[in-house]
Amino acid sequence: MVVYDTVLVRYGELSTKGKNRNIFIRKLLDNIKSSLKDLEKLEYRYTRDRIYIKINGEDSKEIEERLKNVFGISSFSFTCKINSDIEEIKKITLELVKNLETSTFKVITKRQDKTFELNSDNVNRATAGNILANTNHKVDVHNPNIRINIEIQKENTYITSNKIEGAKGYPTGVNGKVLLLLSGGIDSPLAAYYIMKRGIEVEAVHFASPPYTSKQSFDKVVELARIVSKYQGKMKIHVVNFTDLQMEIYARCDESYAITIMRRMMYRIAEKLALKRNCLAIATGENVGQVASQTLESLAVINEVIKMPVIRPLITFDKIDIINMSRMIGTYETSILPYEDCCTIFTPKNPVTKPKSTKAVYYEKNIDYDTLIDNSIENIETVLVLPNEVKDEYL
Ligand code: ATP
Ligand code: MG
Repeated sequence: MVVYDTVLVRYGELSTKGKNRNIFIRKLLDNIKSSLKDLEKLEYRYTRDRIYIKINGEDSKEIEERLKNVFGISSFSFTCKINSDIEEIKKITLELVKNLETSTFKVITKRQDKTFELNSDNVNRATAGNILANTNHKVDVHNPNIRINIEIQKENTYITSNKIEGAKGYPTGVNGKVLLLLSGGIDSPLAAYYIMKRGIEVEAVHFASPPYTSKQSFDKVVELARIVSKYQGKMKIHVVNFTDLQMEIYARCDESYAITIMRRMMYRIAEKLALKRNCLAIATGENVGQVASQTLESLAVINEVIKMPVIRPLITFDKIDIINMSRMIGTYETSILPYEDCCTIFTPKNPVTKPKSTKAVYYEKNIDYDTLIDNSIENIETVLVLPNEVKDEYL
């Protein structure tokens, strides 16, 4: 029986990144370590092309499940680490297939150590010849059932017949940080996933309006953050108390403009907080045409109150694709729990679908919003969410 003792991790798009490569690999290694943190016996090593994780008896299934969620990995394999010695390579590759049902196979050798006594072709020939001589397996170079991969390095060689697809993308954090407006809906948690996948770290801001919004509605947002936090290791949620500002809006603005103005306030707060948190952009789960506040006219009037770029990963997605993807990342079932949100409790009967900037500015003149915004930022509470737990933390 061949024992897989080392995980070999391959990088994807990283290879195109020239001189940033080292930074990317270190970040990927950090992210992998933080996702496997509680598996304390693991040992890590990296080279230009690969990360190697020595398993030391930790649970392989658990390692597999977690590595699948780490962005920047193109694929990974559970391998058997041996000495770079052709006789040993022949012995282990044979053991790997000896007890399998008769089938077709192909040997694929990568010789990173060019000083190794045989070139890749000759290693392929030697090992395949040995298998043909000792089993009933047949070679099929085009469509084999078993692929035996051999990676030869200076001292050690890694042998495997499995390959697991990684999450692709870039290691989260190599491309800066954004502040995501996170609601309890379906869209914004999925937006978080896509942003993280591009290598951008996500911090979240959530607007709550207690006592109009409940503890359950807040817990739901924390749970959504917890689910997506597994794609970047951890996530901060900055919770803004939005009640005073929202009450002022409803008391002093025309009802049809309440949503537009509320969203302009959210954007203003988000931009200020983003600057404070070193975020380079803000992000939302907005999607053209879904609701009144998401027409192009509306987005323009909301967007004009800030200078910072706004990333909207789902802007053109179909709802059905959003639902399917949110099922895939594991947030859908939580998102559809029926708790109220600060947007839903004060929903006006007839929100404008084509708001005018001049009118929004006119209504806002009735509110001393600068003071209210500064107050709400001063009173932000921050929660640190980890994939397996939640911690309170204050700014
Ligand atoms: P979602 O499913 O993400 O809630 P939605 O289709 O329900 O989106 P809206 O409620 O209009 O649309 O919100 C649009 C975007 O505004 C959300 O995707 C989110 O980024 C942000 N947002 C809405 N409500 C809040 C909130 N209470 N706190 C933080 N962000 C919010
Ligand atoms: Mg919503």
